[in-house]
Amino acid sequence: MGVDNDAVHILLQGLRTGLSDGWGGSMIATDIQDILFGTPQPRRSTVNLGVLSRDKVNIIVHGHEPILSEMIVEAAEDPELLKLAKEKGATGINVAGICCTGNEALMRHGTPIAGTFLQQELAVITGAVEAIVVDVQCVMPSLGDLTGCYHTKFISTSPKADFPNTVRIEFHEARAYETAKEIVKAAVENFPNRVLEKVTIPEEKQECMVGFSAEAILGALGGSPDPLIDAIKSGAIRGIGAVVGCNNVKVTHNYGHVNLVKELIKNNVLVVTTGCNAIACAEAGLLLPEASELAGQGLKAVCKALGIPPVLHMGSCVDISRILVLSSALANRLGVDISDLPAAGAAPEWMSEKAVSIGAYVVSSGVFTVLGTIPAVLGSQAVTSLLTEGLNDVVGASFAVEPDPFKAADLMLEHIDGKRKALGLTSES
Ligand code: SF4
Repeated sequence: MGVDNDAVHILLQGLRTGLSDGWGGSMIATDIQDILFGTPQPRRSTVNLGVLSRDKVNIIVHGHEPILSEMIVEAAEDPELLKLAKEKGATGINVAGICCTGNEALMRHGTPIAGTFLQQELAVITGAVEAIVVDVQCVMPSLGDLTGCYHTKFISTSPKADFPNTVRIEFHEARAYETAKEIVKAAVENFPNRVLEKVTIPEEKQECMVGFSAEAILGALGGSPDPLIDAIKSGAIRGIGAVVGCNNVKVTHNYGHVNLVKELIKNNVLVVTTGCNAIACAEAGLLLPEASELAGQGLKAVCKALGIPPVLHMGSCVDISRILVLSSALANRLGVDISDLPAAGAAPEWMSEKAVSIGAYVVSSGVFTVLGTIPAVLGSQAVTSLLTEGLNDVVGASFAVEPDPFKAADLMLEHIDGKRKALGLTSES
């Protein structure tokens, strides 16, 4: 209280804090998770509510911490628990993800994803979920009441967070596997309580290709960013678009995500994605090599040559640090700052306070970023103009706000073209 009352001071301190989150907290967390559980590599999986099984015990993992999902995925393959599932009348155990706990398991194991942030309640009302297991973040407070209308057990696990009407099974790393087995067992024992008349599983499910860590992307390029730089220099790839972030109840589900990404690839922008945008893109079929048919001629040719989708899933929302690593590799190879790259970011449907921190470190790292929903800053002309203009003089990038995904794509393309011109790269194939 009373430490600093100057809007510019406070905002710049906020950006510094964001930088320490991105390049410190998130990046270290991602690196350590890769050391513990493996660096994601390209693999195939499926997404959307249709991944839930009519015959198997369905366990949803939801939240943000990969330790929990890693252990649950492992425990779901435990022979003792599979035997128990058969005894209870199920043909097996099906683990599916929601949000970014789901993205972590998807990236490392190909565990299917049942949906985005806005599909967590829909998963429960299929009536086919024996347990929804949560850790922290993006957990709807309604889940307690909602699961009460079904047989679903709502299991909360984090020592840091809890929600109304949960079954509490606290998860500590020292007993990780035993606790995961206890959770999976609770779900399996709940299978006979499924009320068949209440079960409605939508048919929709979509195949996707995921697992594009920075290491995997560089690996696909032969170990060096040079082929990607050459494609950017030649104009085959016009630039890089990082489209990320949440869903938001105030806007139509996935409309901004999918239309912005489609517009970018149509204009030869290679898209990297994380978080719920990645799930939205997967549901729309954009995370498949075949989606290059929707891309411009230059990007399509590059994708076909490498066998990759035009939209690369780089992980959970905290994995945006992977995008920083890739941007750094490109900038270092070109001998320029990240802010000089023909690249732009967007969070078309952001809502989480974490997205504020992520936006702060992405812009402070030099990436022009378009927000699809308006942050609560319009009460101050000074704050608004610093965020949308003044920051250019401080960090080489700024925010823009544009709810219409087609106009947002135009802003990103205009920025990318400006950067191409400044680098002397004017051609486009
Ligand atoms: S992208 Fe946003 S809504 Fe989705 S899991 Fe991450 S923080 Fe939650």
